[in-house]
Order: sequence, then C-alpha cells, then structure tokens
Amino acid sequence: MPTSDTPPDGDTRRTGVATDEVRRHNLALVLRRLHFAGPLTRSRLASITGLSRSTMADLIGELSSLDLVVEGPSLTPSGPGRPSPMVHTRPHGAVVLAVELAVDSLAVATVGLGGHVFDRRRLERSREHISPEEAVQDVAGLARPLLDSLPPNHRLVGVGVGVAGITRRSDGLVHLAPNLGWRDAPIGRLLAAELSDGQPVMVANEADLGALAEHRRGGHPGVRHLIYIAGEVGIGAGIIADDEPLLGATGYAGEVGHALINPGGWPCGCGATGCWETEAGEAALLRRTGSGDAATGLAALDALSKKAEAGEGAVLAGMAEVGRWLGLGVGNLINLFNPEVVVLGGLYHRFYRFLAPAVGQGARSQALAAPWSRVSIVPSRLGVDATLIGAAELALSPVIADPAGAGRAPVFLR
Ligand SMILES: [Zn+2]
Repeated sequence: MPTSDTPPDGDTRRTGVATDEVRRHNLALVLRRLHFAGPLTRSRLASITGLSRSTMADLIGELSSLDLVVEGPSLTPSGPGRPSPMVHTRPHGAVVLAVELAVDSLAVATVGLGGHVFDRRRLERSREHISPEEAVQDVAGLARPLLDSLPPNHRLVGVGVGVAGITRRSDGLVHLAPNLGWRDAPIGRLLAAELSDGQPVMVANEADLGALAEHRRGGHPGVRHLIYIAGEVGIGAGIIADDEPLLGATGYAGEVGHALINPGGWPCGCGATGCWETEAGEAALLRRTGSGDAATGLAALDALSKKAEAGEGAVLAGMAEVGRWLGLGVGNLINLFNPEVVVLGGLYHRFYRFLAPAVGQGARSQALAAPWSRVSIVPSRLGVDATLIGAAELALSPVIADPAGAGRAPVFLR
C-alpha cells in the first residue's frame, strides 16, 4: 500500500506519531522491495512504491545511515550514457545465523540482507537419537567458524532455526519431534545460551520454513497461495494463504501427514491407522520399492536412487504407487486450500522425476475441477536448503518489518 507523503491533519502530537508511523512503514516498504527484488534505481523504487522522489531520497538516506543499503553504480548498464545509480541492500548490515535440525543432518548458514549467503555447512548424521543439549553443541561447533569468519563490520541480528517437529514459536519450545526423539525440548533457550548475544532466536517447523522460502525465494513471483510439502520420514506441509503463512491458533497447522487417507492401511507412529505418511512417507517409499522393512535413512535412500536411475521395474512400480498416494493427498489439499502452486520438497524433490506422473494422476482424480484448473505441482527449486533459507528469512523478518527499530525487541514474528 503506497502511503501518502503528507500526514493527516490533527494536533501536533498526533501528527508527529502519524508521521513516525508512516516513515517506519515506508522504510519497511523500500527495504522489503530491495531485499526480495534485488538492486533498483531510486526512480524505479519511487515508481513502484508510489512515493515521491524527495521522500525516496530521505528514506534511502536513513536506510544508508542504518547501514542497511548502499548506493553504487548499475550492475548492468544498458544503453548510452552514464548508468543510473542502483540502491543495493548491504548484506553485512543485517546478518543472521540460520540453523536446520533435521533427522539426517544438521546445517548452518550465515545469511545477510538480500539473501546473501556468506557461508554454509551441512553435517550428515546417523539416526541415533541425541539429546537436545548434544544437538545444540553440535550446531554451535558447526556455526562458530562461520560466525568468526564474518567481516568485522557485520551486525548479527538474530538466529533462525528450523526443526523437524511441532514447535511453539513464542519461545522456541519443540513440543514433539518424534524422529529426533524429543519431547518439550527448549531448543530456543538452549541455542540462545550458546550462540546469541541478546539477539532473538526464532524457532519454527521445517515445513513452515520451507513454504516461507519457496514463497519468497523459490521463483514464484506474484503467487499468493502456495503449499509446500516436505517429504521426510513423515510428511509436513507449510501453507501460505493470501501471501501470509497459515500457522493456526498456536502455530501447529500443517500436520497433514496425520490426515486419514486409508482406513484399512498401516498403523502410524502417532497411534492412528492409515495416516497419509504411512502410505507416502519414507518408510512407505522404501517398503513399496522393495528396499526391505528395516531400511531407513540416507544410505537406503542412496541405494534406492541408484536402482531408480537404473530403471529397475519393481522400483519404478513402487515409486508410482507412492506417487499415487502422494497425489491423492495433494488433491485433498488442493480442494481444501485452492493453492496456485504446490511445491514438492525433501524426499519428493529428490525423487520427483519418478513420482511426478503418478502424483499428477492421483491429484487430478481427487481434486475438484475448479481448483485443479488453477494449480501447478512443481518440484522445489531450493532443494535441500529450503528449510535453511526459510530460517534465514524468518530471522531477518524483524529487520525488514521495522528497519529503524531493529535494535529493539522484535514485534510479531512470522
Ligand atoms: Zn499418524
């Protein structure tokens, strides 16, 4: 929403408050544009925000004084004459540590404004359960060299964490992460004690962060309704509705893996029978492709990948069966949420080529014609790093929302 340059009439005190609010709003509008769209000229920024050139000059001056943007020559001069100066985000001006606690790996990245990745590390690990304290120590060991190698003039503004579990955003408590073996794990507090110097530590579910990353950085411009489906040991979904994450009353929305899909199916780890993930999660994929009931984890998935690439008939048939069940669930989600895009991530990204035809057929058989006509089902573009990128976006969001207030406690964290 472009905001008027002129504050509404009123007494001096109220006008002052309104002016301050308008200015904060406009600073956020400009920084958000630059963060997501990349470098733009002042005049282009003025035209797309609807603000005057003089207001834009003031805003860019303030963002520059906050070290969040810098003006420089055009990266891609075109035509004759002097290239128009471009306004860039300054990655060092707001840096976050992104962390992913997944079942088969731990990952960290240092990411600055504009999505600039300074460095990243991923450590594959076995599925033996480790305590939350041990996991946090491992994360700290991975992260410290990255933090130490940041340029001396950087400003660390937060830590964003994605966890394969049901997570309370207000304080980073992981209520339940069955595949990590955790219940009521205070991951936010533990990571804050280890890695934060007062910066906020924001913890969220991995599929919610995958959806955030795909929506903002996955190459879907203009898409306002997106569902990201994370195939891991279980199945999770992150839902973007009307440009905003749909988190539910307490942040636990999207547990689609435990939606009933086959009443006569397999028992699920949650205690119910026939949940979606019992038909299309990792165990089902390995079982249906003949990998054996005991097969789990990266080694089993690597072996499966080789067999699928080699075109083994039984493996491809198993993939098609998993794809069909996956597609039926996707069709249900299309009917429920009417998305423009359904992004398949994690396991489904890895095996997309083998699953896709059956997913499309299954989804089409279940979805109603009207919502089906608007939707695309696509593989994740961000692949294995989707959650990590989403964690960085989450941690950067307070600075984007209130650039001048970034030193204060963050407001609402989505
Ligand atoms: Zn279940």
